[in-house]
Amino acid sequence: MTRTFLGLPTAPRGVGHLRGSEPFPAAARRALANTQLRRNLGRATSTIRAKRASVVGELPDWAELRDAGQAIKAETMAHLDRYLEQLEQQVTAHGGVVHWARDAREANQIVTGLVQATGATEVVKVKSIVTDEIGLNDALASVGIQAHETDLAELIVQLGHDRPSHILVPAIHRNRAEIRDIFLREMAGADPGLTDSPAALAEAARRHLRRVFLSARVGISGANFAIAETGTLCVVESEGNGRMCLTLPDTLITVMGIEKVLPSWADLGVFLQLLPRSSTGERMNPYTSMWTGVTPGDGPQQVHLVLLDNGRTAALADPAGRQALHCIRCSACLNVCPVYERVGGHAYGSVYPGPIGAVLSPLLTGIEDNASLPYASSLCGACYDACPVKIDIPSLLVHLRARHVEEAGWASPEAVTMAAASWVMASPARYQAGQRAGQLGRRLGRGGRIRRLPPPLSAWTAARDAPVPPAQTFREWWRDEHAGAAR
Ligand code: SF4
Repeated sequence: MTRTFLGLPTAPRGVGHLRGSEPFPAAARRALANTQLRRNLGRATSTIRAKRASVVGELPDWAELRDAGQAIKAETMAHLDRYLEQLEQQVTAHGGVVHWARDAREANQIVTGLVQATGATEVVKVKSIVTDEIGLNDALASVGIQAHETDLAELIVQLGHDRPSHILVPAIHRNRAEIRDIFLREMAGADPGLTDSPAALAEAARRHLRRVFLSARVGISGANFAIAETGTLCVVESEGNGRMCLTLPDTLITVMGIEKVLPSWADLGVFLQLLPRSSTGERMNPYTSMWTGVTPGDGPQQVHLVLLDNGRTAALADPAGRQALHCIRCSACLNVCPVYERVGGHAYGSVYPGPIGAVLSPLLTGIEDNASLPYASSLCGACYDACPVKIDIPSLLVHLRARHVEEAGWASPEAVTMAAASWVMASPARYQAGQRAGQLGRRLGRGGRIRRLPPPLSAWTAARDAPVPPAQTFREWWRDEHAGAAR
């Protein structure tokens, strides 16, 4: 295909598994009723938060690192077309093949075609959220190719016929007992006496995966970063499964969102300090794999890179929204978010959950397909404070709410409410009449609170109380207070 999709006006919207299946409020209400889920999430996120705070506190120049990360990303987005073409030239010069995919459908066609060309019917995958975004496993299955997830958490999700609920810890909603039950039920050859100790579960997964690795001819990965100046791709991970996927197969196919490119090696140094501390709370991730095209006689001899748009150039065209493309998927914003901690990732309905999902998903798909997500926040600002590249998520949420109201026009309750308020406030007589009408609400209150208002205001009291209006309006109070002075 041609690369004309980098022309912003024709940029396609994202498709695949980005679209929310049901509005956030309904999904969140169901999730909140699951006490086991809340307990699992609370324990896991508080542990990761504490680890992150400890290792971030060790660095005296953390603020400067965040500034550097933000500046590098802004510069990269400003010249994204140039850096992507440089990356393509370098990968090609080193024996790799670069493919350009406008959307999920094109990316899936490219990858399934490449796998079919090898004759393989199985592939191994290192955790790659972008392949979840495009629904690659389903696309492979539809042509008879089985994808084996090799990251432990992704394996748990796959064997449990489940969906990921966290960017970094996809099975964060599962506890050890649930994982043991999944392994006993789904893992061929699992020891019937398997316990739920972390070591026993990891050993069971290791034995299962070792068989898969040794027979795989095709590996599929994502990429955390790509260096334009050399054509080098980089994956960081904690388990070593990624290293196996990237080195053992004959053919390696990497699917990467176009925003992951970095100009130079010097830039990578900044992000290799920011990412592990923000994600797993480690000073350095255990495995950092880098490869540049093909090395004859060493590792995969067929190396492909699929560069995916799927709504990213549409996000880039939004001057305020484009900073969401700076995200390095560390998940620090999820772990500090009071909303995410209580409802978990599934409630967001999109592969990108939490605060960054609430802005990234609507930007990629268009606001109409994920309209409830920008409202899934208390705007407390914890996500902004935690973000290693200083993405101002609260401001983005407000920006997307405004876009939603503008695009929905009169179909939006906010637009109707604001127009009515504007009409009332434009006239002193109407304003006073409105205040008198509001005082009728005193009859509904008890103990200073109104627990249920009539429709359409019932939507407000469905989740919170309303205060009882005061007995006097300000004007009445002023008139009474100053009556004596006037006499
Ligand atoms: S928005 Fe920031 S904190 Fe959240 S995942 Fe992306 S880089 Fe990490």
